[in-house]
Amino acid sequence: MNAGAKEFNEAARRNTADLRQHDRIQKALAGYYLKREDYQNRFPDWAGARDLAAEIKREAINHLDRYLDEFASRLEARGTKVFWAPDGQAARDYIVGVARQHKVRSIIKSKSMTAEEIHLNDALEQAGFEVVESDLGEYIVQLRREPPYHIVFPAMHLTRQQISDLFHDRLGSEPTNNPEDLTMIARRIMRRKYCEADLGISGANFAIAETGMISITENEGNARLTTSLPKIHVALVGIEKVLPKLSDLALFLPMLATAGAGQPITCYNTLYGGPRQPGESDGPEEFHVVLLDNRRTELLADAEQRDALHCIRCGACLNVCPVFKNIGGHSYGTTYQGPIGSVITPHLRGLQDWKHLSQASSLCGACSQTCPVKIDLHHHLLHNRRNAVRLRPAPMEKCLQAGLAFVMCRPRLYALAARLARIAQPLSRLVEGTVLDPLRAWTKTRSIPPMAVKSFHQLWQERKKS
Ligand code: SF4
Repeated sequence: MNAGAKEFNEAARRNTADLRQHDRIQKALAGYYLKREDYQNRFPDWAGARDLAAEIKREAINHLDRYLDEFASRLEARGTKVFWAPDGQAARDYIVGVARQHKVRSIIKSKSMTAEEIHLNDALEQAGFEVVESDLGEYIVQLRREPPYHIVFPAMHLTRQQISDLFHDRLGSEPTNNPEDLTMIARRIMRRKYCEADLGISGANFAIAETGMISITENEGNARLTTSLPKIHVALVGIEKVLPKLSDLALFLPMLATAGAGQPITCYNTLYGGPRQPGESDGPEEFHVVLLDNRRTELLADAEQRDALHCIRCGACLNVCPVFKNIGGHSYGTTYQGPIGSVITPHLRGLQDWKHLSQASSLCGACSQTCPVKIDLHHHLLHNRRNAVRLRPAPMEKCLQAGLAFVMCRPRLYALAARLARIAQPLSRLVEGTVLDPLRAWTKTRSIPPMAVKSFHQLWQERKKS
């Protein structure tokens, strides 16, 4: 077992036993389930909307080269600097370079999972820049020096009391359990940071090829301030964020809000198409768009799993995943948690080191059922399992499979083995989960299901006779 898998198992075991954390997650999600259901029902045809969204994303991803060129050339025509970053290092170097070139003193940043993916804050801080997260949840986890717990709700694992204690320790504020007061404490600090910052960094929810614009959807208004007050705006955009047409937003904005947060639409929806143009009164003087590949084109080349690039990062698959709800977001040790994280992380960071995530699933299929763009998540987890075995078969599994194949190809031997297994099973129950059990790694947390008293073959024979 590699070190990552070991860490994952230990964290998962620890967090599964933390019942208070379960309680907090359940409470945080209880309202979401009700609201999501309500707003899904207000769509004239939610199933049809999912079909259409999947179709639009399929069109965008299958012709990604064309749509990206269209997107970039329209942005450049309005004076935006577009940088194609093959990997995280190139993206970090470019953004640090922009900050250095402009002798930036302070940076404000709105929520971006793509920036988390490439550890952008660490790179900027190592280069000597102060970076402040402007999304409240992100700001809280930044103060705690920990990664987001969930791709949409980064601080969902914390109570008001914990946030109050954190603000008291780090910001010197008076303790309070009132959410509005807590928000105002962060707001007062943030307002000053917006005005001081020379550089604003954002992600993007969608990149519209037809108009050469990025779309950012948010609830706090922080992304608008982050992108419009500083002189320079850098948007870090994963190449899979492309949508062909502006009108596609009419479907994707309410869909993302409904699936992600149980809202009809998020409070602020903004399009950015370039730096401030002559005669315009606001907007940045300089606008950079960094288009990040970071192994996405490798996933694109995989026809079987390419649709994982359709993800709009709504987080709905995390919210319904029984594994996520038990082990929590930090156990994964990845930027993207839950089912989608378990599917794409092995592609983005290497199958051999991250194959254990494919096992973090009951394969119940709730994720695939809920995904608004119809990604077949649980089947992709199976694909990852298969690919990992093909890449480096585990000797024990290989022996077991060879043995099983040998027995199953010989009906008499199979019948004898099944009979012996029926006799042995009550005995094995006595040692199940103990140190005498050779399958202890598996049985100490679960029981082997009891074998049927009679095999299908026996039942069939009896039925024929009767
Ligand atoms: S895989 Fe689907 S449900 Fe999960 S985050 Fe992406 S779009 Fe949402």
